[in-house]
Amino acid sequence: MATLHVHPEGDQVEHDTSTDGPDCICGPEVRPAEHGDGRIGWLIVHHSLDGRELAE
Ligand SMILES: [Zn+2]
Repeated sequence: MATLHVHPEGDQVEHDTSTDGPDCICGPEVRPAEHGDGRIGWLIVHHSLDGRELAE
C-alpha cells in the first residue's frame, strides 16, 4: 500500500516522512487516498508548526 506524505515546504521543523504512519511531531492528519488504478492508499497531511494555518 502506498503512503504519500504532504508537508509544508520550508517549515521550521523537520517532518518525519520516512515512515508509513503519522509518526511526526506535528500530529499529521491521515486520509484515505484513491490512486488512479483504484487502489486505496494513505495520504498523510503534515501541519506546519509555524502557525501558518492557525491564523484565525
Ligand atoms: Zn509532520
